[in-house]
Amino acid sequence: MVRASGIELFDADGRRYLDAVSGIYVANIGYGLGEIGEAMARQAAQVPFVYAGDFATEAETTLAERVVALAPDGLAKAYFTSGGSEANEVAFKIARRYQRAGGNESRWRIASRWQSYHGATMATLAASGKVSRRRDFLPYMLDFPKLPAVSLYRAPLGLTAQAYGEEQVREVERRLIQEDPASIAAIIIEPVTGAGSGALVPPPGYIRGLRALCDRHDILLIADEVVTGFGRTGAAFASSNLEALPDIITFGKGVAAGYAPLAGVLISSKVIERLERAAPSSLFTGYTYSGHAVSCAAGLAVLDYLDRHDLIAQVRKRESAFLARAQAAFGRHQLVGDIRGKGALMGIEFVADRESRAPLDPALGFHRRVVEAARGLGLLVRGEAGVVDGVSGDHVLVAPAFNATEAELDEIFAMLAVAIEQAA
Ligand code: PLP
Repeated sequence: MVRASGIELFDADGRRYLDAVSGIYVANIGYGLGEIGEAMARQAAQVPFVYAGDFATEAETTLAERVVALAPDGLAKAYFTSGGSEANEVAFKIARRYQRAGGNESRWRIASRWQSYHGATMATLAASGKVSRRRDFLPYMLDFPKLPAVSLYRAPLGLTAQAYGEEQVREVERRLIQEDPASIAAIIIEPVTGAGSGALVPPPGYIRGLRALCDRHDILLIADEVVTGFGRTGAAFASSNLEALPDIITFGKGVAAGYAPLAGVLISSKVIERLERAAPSSLFTGYTYSGHAVSCAAGLAVLDYLDRHDLIAQVRKRESAFLARAQAAFGRHQLVGDIRGKGALMGIEFVADRESRAPLDPALGFHRRVVEAARGLGLLVRGEAGVVDGVSGDHVLVAPAFNATEAELDEIFAMLAVAIEQAA
């Protein structure tokens, strides 16, 4: 790619691509905003880098304050990393240190759900539930317990969403008891799933149920908001909308919207207090680029941009029209089973039969065909064969920049309708 502006990318041959998925749910305010680049250049000229183990910069401390102010109440400190995998690694270390500081030496495992994605490093991959990505590295996978993936679309027919959510929480508790809760330091979840299973929104009461279960068993709750943080679901954090507060939130992607590598961890007062009592330095991890000043300057400029254009509120306001647009464009297609999501994060699940919800044969690789057809038309979307309870959830994801114009949204869904038709 040689040029980018708004939600358009242009390659070296001058071909235009409409980016309907913000790269990989990253470029939330679009490409080519000169003011973000200028803020980064000013910071680079002033102080580009200090080692976080020695010093902080004003960019870093100001961004930490801004992120804490946006976070749900109770999340009191932010720590920055370069990427989401690093952020989740930090969260796991904090959970382990928290448990040790409380005298729970046996608690080290991180429980997570099948189909979740938490990163590409060994520990975050061990916590991820994507079979295909783990396969090559199984010998290195830590013994982290796996919990069921939750899909309202795949819930047993006849069960209300509420009852399904409650049943799923009971199932989580059964599995934890089998795995021995006294071995578990934390549960990590994506409040709304991203890369793995296609914008699955949890059933009502499910997160509250997990929170209560964590409290009963002295387990920390980590919300991985690497995709959902900074407005993607129409709130600063998806956890602000949900019924229960996590102990740790990890974030990434949208915080600097692709202008620089930046991610981080938000930590609750409960966790901070115990850790600081045990050892004042135990929040520190020591990545060379933690809190990189130029990345933090990019983050500050991105937050300013989101504020100035009131983009998070716009995502919230547009949510139902966004889903309705997709419904109107291809909702009646015989292979489209479910169109779902939150804010500007949408999953479109394909099925062989809409009535019975029978899944497509995974061997067809239908999501790949849609993604390729779309690319041929000049549209970028992502697709995966998310598997929930052994059932293929072949889907594509649409997650445009928050400031995509109405005309661009129309164009996205019109092109995607053609791509689905071509792939069918
Ligand atoms: N967590 C979630 C939910 C993600 O979607 C991703 C990346 O896609 C990560 C963590 C890992 O982040 P990174 O690729 O920045 O290391």
